[in-house]
Amino acid sequence: MEVVIDAEGLRAHHAGVVVPTMGALHAGHAALIERARALAGSERPVVVTLFVNPTQFNDPEDFARYPRTLEADLALAERCGADAVFVPSVEVVYPGGMAAREPVALPAVATRPGLEDAHRPGHFEGVCRVCARLFDLMRPSSAVFGEKDWQQLQVIRAMVSGEGARWGGMGVVSHPTVREPDGLALSSRNVRLSPAARAQALSLSRALRDAAREADAASAERAGARVLREAGVEPEYFVVRDSETLEAVRPGRAARALVAAVVGSVRLIDNERVG
Ligand code: AMP
Repeated sequence: MEVVIDAEGLRAHHAGVVVPTMGALHAGHAALIERARALAGSERPVVVTLFVNPTQFNDPEDFARYPRTLEADLALAERCGADAVFVPSVEVVYPGGMAAREPVALPAVATRPGLEDAHRPGHFEGVCRVCARLFDLMRPSSAVFGEKDWQQLQVIRAMVSGEGARWGGMGVVSHPTVREPDGLALSSRNVRLSPAARAQALSLSRALRDAAREADAASAERAGARVLREAGVEPEYFVVRDSETLEAVRPGRAARALVAAVVGSVRLIDNERVG
């Protein structure tokens, strides 16, 4: 496996299947890399990016505390079948500086009221900026994203289709959320949960599970809110929305419950299909 640090080094790996990550890799990322390997077969390369993207953090302390585990990440990526790992510097990703504007439109799904944008303003601008730049550099045939970050997945899909021919018809492939046996969605931030906070954090997946059993969106929101309240968790949001547009649910369309909450100073998100 090759470690690549600049655009020049990526040349040999164009048209591959890419897995963008911020590192601190766990079994959820591993599943994405293995999926990429299966998609790529033996003809195309699999490239994993490790880049803690400063422009998508609206909280400098969260950025500073984000776990960084490069050696272990390289070993995991290699074990899962990556051909290359792209570990760029901030200068390689943002050659014009972080203040420069990137020519990419923010899709409407990024700013739906009551979801991520309400609590992390600017977050999806940063996500779109970094992904657009990575796709420009890597020219992938497809990219794999986790369902764990459901709104992000819809934002990336909308951005890629909105940019038309820019990335030559690249595909966006999604992979289901990988969970601990007790239901907690794997996240790089879980290492910062104390045992008590971890127990409380389980209420997110429990709330989603209870919500998923309900027949309509309003009952699902009530069921989820009840579980969180009983666990003493005050969510930033627990809502049921149209799966793709993240607008209000409409009859005949798939629905998704989405939750975000700060538990013991760690911000967690999760989601589940409803109905
Ligand atoms: P991150 O490193 O947190 O930016 O995540 C990189 C990619 O891994 C994103 O596409 C995430 O959705 C995905 N991911 C993170 N956690 C999980 C998980 N528990 N299961 C599946 N995919 C995940």
